[in-house]
Amino acid sequence: MVLFKSNLSFLTFITVLVFGNCVFNVEAREHKDSIRPDAGNEKFVLEKLQGYTDPRNISEIIYLMVGKSGKRGRERAVKIQKKRGVIETGLKAEFPRGVQCPQIDTETWAIDYSYKRHGAALHKGVDIVPEEGEGTPVVAIADGSVVGKFFNRWNRKGIELMLRHSPKQTGLPYWIYSQYTHLKNYPRFDIGTPVKKGEKIGITSNTGLMGKRERRDALHFAILYSKSPKWTNTGRAVVPADAFWMDPNAFYRSSGPYDSKTLRNLTKDEKKIKIPYLFVDGSLNPKETKKIWPYVCKKKIEKY
Ligand SMILES: [Zn+2]
Repeated sequence: MVLFKSNLSFLTFITVLVFGNCVFNVEAREHKDSIRPDAGNEKFVLEKLQGYTDPRNISEIIYLMVGKSGKRGRERAVKIQKKRGVIETGLKAEFPRGVQCPQIDTETWAIDYSYKRHGAALHKGVDIVPEEGEGTPVVAIADGSVVGKFFNRWNRKGIELMLRHSPKQTGLPYWIYSQYTHLKNYPRFDIGTPVKKGEKIGITSNTGLMGKRERRDALHFAILYSKSPKWTNTGRAVVPADAFWMDPNAFYRSSGPYDSKTLRNLTKDEKKIKIPYLFVDGSLNPKETKKIWPYVCKKKIEKY
């Protein structure tokens, strides 16, 4: 409970700070602070958005599940994450022959990250690596709206954007939250802005702490889902009420189920997921799809 109380007082403090001090210059904002520059205004906007609830209304379990536990809670957090979807399913993204789409590399869904994090940890998403590297545009996977953007200066995720999608917008019987991290720039969108499927929402890069090594340019892409329309934004993360993690490949299935436990038991053939995508000429494949891969695909050029 300490976590929510401190988040709330943190937000109240920032609200006072920002409203009391409305004129800053943009450059100073960029470099001076360790928090979101516009947190106060965002709080004001957030409260008006559909489904938004105060951070205190989300259970501690869910905070642990999204990874907001700090170092001490990690063992417990991983247990909850496994219960709430972060287990390997064996699903595999497939694209048509002759079409080139950026693919998930070795950093697949739900792999054990304890060797990387010096303590219990799971990979709660997939890493998609475009051949063109830094600068490749990232696109919205469905119609939705912006519910979070974070600098994450002091963690591995780097610059992050979160979108929220209604059941109508994706065709899934859930509220879906799509997460895009390691982006090059702080998102230009205001919180609450609607986005269209296929709209450019960011640029591929390698932001986020990485120790001494340099991260490859890649998109960390993740999906949260919930039956409840309620969600919050603590200033550090978007946290949907009663949320689960979804294998991002599962999101592209033409019908349910979508939960990892059931998906794990599908046959090898059923685990092959035909990924719907936006082609470089603006066409959708298949035509009526509500969901697309977070990168635009193009014609494959045969290499000799
Ligand atoms: Zn990742």
